[in-house]
Amino acid sequence: MVLRRRMTAGRPFGNMATMPLRATVSLLMAVVVLASSVPVRASGATTTRLDQAYAISATLDVDAGRLDAVEELEITNRSASAIDHLNLSVVPRALGYLTLGEVSVDGEPTATEWTTGINLRVPLDLARGDTARVRIRFALEVDRAPDAFTARTSRDNGVLSFGQWFPIVSTEHDVYGIGDPQISFTADVIRLDLTTTTELPTSAVACPGLLEATGTTWVCESTDVRDFSFVVNPRFRLTQRDVDGVDLRVYAETVDGAATAALAEQALIGMSEAFGAYPWPDLVLAEIGSGGGFSMEYPRMIHLTRDKVADTYVVYHEVAHQWFYGQLGNDQQREPWLDEGFADFSARYLMGIGENQCSTRPVDSEVFAWPADATTGGDWTSCDGYFHAVFYRGTEFISAVRAAMGDDAFFSAMRGWVARNRFGFVRGDLLLGRLQAATDADLSPIFAGYLADDTITLPKSASTVRRGG
Ligand SMILES: [Zn+2]
Repeated sequence: MVLRRRMTAGRPFGNMATMPLRATVSLLMAVVVLASSVPVRASGATTTRLDQAYAISATLDVDAGRLDAVEELEITNRSASAIDHLNLSVVPRALGYLTLGEVSVDGEPTATEWTTGINLRVPLDLARGDTARVRIRFALEVDRAPDAFTARTSRDNGVLSFGQWFPIVSTEHDVYGIGDPQISFTADVIRLDLTTTTELPTSAVACPGLLEATGTTWVCESTDVRDFSFVVNPRFRLTQRDVDGVDLRVYAETVDGAATAALAEQALIGMSEAFGAYPWPDLVLAEIGSGGGFSMEYPRMIHLTRDKVADTYVVYHEVAHQWFYGQLGNDQQREPWLDEGFADFSARYLMGIGENQCSTRPVDSEVFAWPADATTGGDWTSCDGYFHAVFYRGTEFISAVRAAMGDDAFFSAMRGWVARNRFGFVRGDLLLGRLQAATDADLSPIFAGYLADDTITLPKSASTVRRGG
C-alpha cells in the first residue's frame, strides 16, 4: 500500500512567481491536458489521530450465524488539520461475511467507497477539533473461516467467534494471509448491546467489560482499547478468579477452565512484574470452536483454539499480547516483530525456556516478505517462514539485547517504554533508541546482526504519547 498524500490546490503553482511567462503558460497547458485526459481521483486528507467512541447494537441468531448490527461511531479530529475522509477497516468483507447497509454522517446518508479489499472510505468534512457521528448498518453471515482466521470471526462446532468483526478506524491497508491484517488505534470506549433471537445461558457470551447478562441481552463495555471481540457458545462453562484485583474469566467447553485460568494467572503476574501493571479491570479467555489455526489476542480478550486452550506457551503468548499489541499498538504488517517478537520472548521468559530457530531472515521483516493470498497461504512454519524469523529469531534478538544490557537495565527500560506509550502506537526505531539510551553497552552490532533496518532514533527529553500514527 502506498500512503496517499494530500496535494493542496496551490502547490503545483507555488513557484510560478519566479518562472518566465512562457514556462508558466506551458505548465498551465500541461496541467489542463493532464486534468482533462486522466481521471485522477482526489487523494484527500485523513488521519488516525482521532478520539473514537463506538456503540454497537446487534441482534444475533446463533443457529443461523447471522448478526445484524448498527454501529454508532463518534470521532473527534485531534490532528493538526482538517480531514475529508475516514478509513475504516472491515475484515469480514474479505471473508465473504459482510453485507453493508446504509452509512450516514451526522444523520446524512453518504456514499462510501471500498479502496482496498477491507478499507471503507467514508467521506466527511471534519475540521481540527470537530466531532462527527458516523452510523453504519451492517450484517454478518458467519461461516467457517480459513485457517489463519479461525480465531477471528468464524463459526465452528456451534461456536461463534467475533474478532476484527466491525468497521474500525484504521490506516488504509489491505487484508493479507500472513500475520495480523488489522491495524487499529485506542478508542475511549467500545460498547456492545447484544440481543439473541433465542434465550441462552447467561454464560453463553464471553466478552470483556460485561455489565449485564439476562439470557437474551448482554451489555459489554470496554474502555481504552484498540479493538473489541466476543465469543458465543451456549455450552460455555465459566471459571472465574481474582488476580490482584483483575477479574479473570475463562469460558471453556471441552476442558476444565481451571487449568487455563491457572496459566493465565501466572502470566498476568509475571508480565506485570516484568513490564508493568495490567491496566484493565478484567481479562477474558474463551475457547473457540476450531481445533486448528492460530489463537488470537484482542484487548482484554483472548480466543483460544481447542487444541491449545490449556497450552502453556499459547496462553502465556496471548496474555503477553495484552502488553505488546493491547497496550502498545504497532503496524503489525510492517513491523510485526514489535508485537509478535515480544509476545514470543515474553512467553519463553515466563516459561524459562530459550528459542529454537533456524531462520536467516531479518527479524524486522514485513509480513509481505512472504508471498500469500488475501486470507490464505503463506509460509508460517518452515525455517524460512514467518514464525522462525519474526517470533523465534525475534526472541533470540531480544535475548541478546537483554544479555548485553543486563536484566535490571533491560526490564527497567522496557517498563519505561510501556508506561510512556501505554494505549499508544509504537515504532521500532524509537524502541531501539530507548534501549540504547538505557545502557552503556554498544547495542549496534546486535541491531545490525538481526535487523534489515537498524536505524535508531534516540529519545528526546520531552516525548509525548501519541494515539494515532
Ligand atoms: Zn502472537
